Amino acid sequence: MAELRPYPFPALIRRMFAELSASGSIFDLPSRKFVLDPGGRDLSVRFHGLEAATPLGPAAGPHSQMAQNVVLAWLSGSRIIELKTVQINDTLTIPRPCIDMQTVGYNVEWSQELRLGESLVEYVKGAMLVEILAASGALKVAPGFGRVLYDMSVGYDLKGIQSDRVQEFIRGMLDATPVIEQLRAQIPDELARFRELDFQRRISNTLTLSTFHGCPPDEIESIICYLLDHVGLHCVVKLNPTLLGPEGVRSLLNERLGYRDVRVPDAAFERDTKWDQAVSFVERLGARAQRRGLGFGVKFSNTLICENHRDFFPKGEREMYLSGPPLHVIAMNLVGRFRARFGARYPISFSAGVDRQNFADAVALGLTPITVCSDFLKPGGYGRGHTYFKELDARMEAVGARDLEGFALLAYGHHETALGRVEGLDDDRRAAALASLTAGDDARARLSEAQWRAWVEQAQRLNTETYVARVTDDPRYGQARNAKPPRKVGSALVLFDCLTCDKCLPVCPNDANFRFVLPRGEVAVERLRRLPGGRWTVEASTPLTLEKKHQIGNFADFCNECGNCDVFCPEDGGPYVMKPRFFGSRGDWELFAQRDGFFLEREGATLRVYGRFSGRGYIVELDAAAQRGRDGVARYRGPEFALEIPLADPDAARGRVDAGVDAVDLTYLHIMRLVSEAVLRETDNYVVHLLDPAPASTDAGALRVTR
Ligand code: SF4
Ligand code: SF4
Repeated sequence: MAELRPYPFPALIRRMFAELSASGSIFDLPSRKFVLDPGGRDLSVRFHGLEAATPLGPAAGPHSQMAQNVVLAWLSGSRIIELKTVQINDTLTIPRPCIDMQTVGYNVEWSQELRLGESLVEYVKGAMLVEILAASGALKVAPGFGRVLYDMSVGYDLKGIQSDRVQEFIRGMLDATPVIEQLRAQIPDELARFRELDFQRRISNTLTLSTFHGCPPDEIESIICYLLDHVGLHCVVKLNPTLLGPEGVRSLLNERLGYRDVRVPDAAFERDTKWDQAVSFVERLGARAQRRGLGFGVKFSNTLICENHRDFFPKGEREMYLSGPPLHVIAMNLVGRFRARFGARYPISFSAGVDRQNFADAVALGLTPITVCSDFLKPGGYGRGHTYFKELDARMEAVGARDLEGFALLAYGHHETALGRVEGLDDDRRAAALASLTAGDDARARLSEAQWRAWVEQAQRLNTETYVARVTDDPRYGQARNAKPPRKVGSALVLFDCLTCDKCLPVCPNDANFRFVLPRGEVAVERLRRLPGGRWTVEASTPLTLEKKHQIGNFADFCNECGNCDVFCPEDGGPYVMKPRFFGSRGDWELFAQRDGFFLEREGATLRVYGRFSGRGYIVELDAAAQRGRDGVARYRGPEFALEIPLADPDAARGRVDAGVDAVDLTYLHIMRLVSEAVLRETDNYVVHLLDPAPASTDAGALRVTR
């Protein structure tokens, strides 16, 4: 269903530990992809003066909306988590599908899909889950490597941001005590020791401003002034790629990179902030923040607005937003231009086409945080973060860097030139610092703090020049290398069985898709035909054959129908459309009546399964014996019948059948029994933890963590 539903906190905690114990994964991310130890290197950075263990983070977007997103991001090495943008209008209708990753990355997404209060609770839940995991001892987190910052993202205009509801959200992030106390009380009894944790009450005091495409510069400035003066937040303003101007953007995008079919409308350049306007408000806002002892920086960049020239999004969407490889080049050119103008005066947050191959370069440029969206939407999902750190480690190893500042100095070999630009050093000090750096010693100890900082900043500036020149001509960002959509094999998805490639699990930002096992074999396709005299007889047809090792299910409460799993599924039809869908509440099963799917509930010893097939609803009630095997009685209701069926002897069925109906299809009964038994047998799905809360263990001996 297109609406997201938050999941109960205690069930999330139980799922987290039960899955780790049973499968060695958390929210379907295998532990071999966890990033918990930097292998003796110091990957820490400072953001607005606050320390984070790495500069990586999910960009405000689909990877930072729900509590499990926050955990998944943290597990894969993100330590500056830019939370999904919130705004006053929290009842948006977003066109679906809304994410097109067939080539470079386009979207028609917007801000949070939850109500403002729900977003606050989700963010606090995510932060508490991370703290619980870190404190559990279930994971071997290197000392200090758990340190994580949460950055608010708020939009879109001054009036909305000043509104009571948005201000209440911000106050809640500044002091989350009431939410924490509510959630603390919900921690399951068997994990009660986590109730004693001193959870961080200030979830965030930093904010990245997201503005409308076309937001006037004086509005941007007014918002930041307000946030600095009246709320006291450290601020970053996210700028649009149109800042490069029409010639700058088009010569890069359409000519050098070859994306000739992408048209950025003239109006976008006319409406958006111009370079000179940005330069002057950055100067003013930077000075204002400094007077108040607050941080101020910029972010490159927002997505690039362009005409919708493709047929992926619903008709009527005239514009869409480009991300991925071409945006990387445009945004890096903006970084270069900004650094040339301001040097290191203002920190730069970065988001645009970051991936395994260029993450280390962004690190070498000193960009903080480095946030990701498009790449995490590709196969592997959050787990791709693991590869970023492997690559960074290899690059640091190659130049002998122990920390990120040392890496900035050595990454492109600019250390000597950079040191030459540091004032106030005699030749001996220079030589000693260089020798110390290249020998892998503590070069910092050879200089004053100011000299060290100046050296690193000069190197980052030189690195920027080198990298921007390099990336602008790198064919990997060009159209030719990014034109091929993911492979489709030409077969159509059906309810059960598929290629079982499992790509649809990690590409889902919300972990909505899951595996479950149905026994290989046949599912009877049967009809119960009424005989004269009230008896029944079973008529069998060709059975349904299940051949695959497992099946794919979809948890509807976490599926906003973004469409991303459809893009990467080799078969046609979309896993989120075709695969068994499980709703988290009966209300939603009833409300979203145009979606087929299941809902399970218990009443005493009875398991009640709601199922909808081709728009027609059925209900099966299974007594205890029927849940265990082939004995017992199933109460089976459909649009035209209500029967009690002894499972061992269906011919003896009793009940009501509407006039004119002489047969009842039993296939749906079999399917509903089969899928409900299967999902309730397992630990790695959201259905079982809602229905059958089982005590979770954090006993390290019981956990299967691959290191
Ligand atoms: S539904 Fe598609 S993506 Fe998912 S496992 Fe099956 S074939 Fe692979
Ligand atoms: S299941 Fe598919 S459509 Fe639904 S949220 Fe996940 S990726 Fe998007």
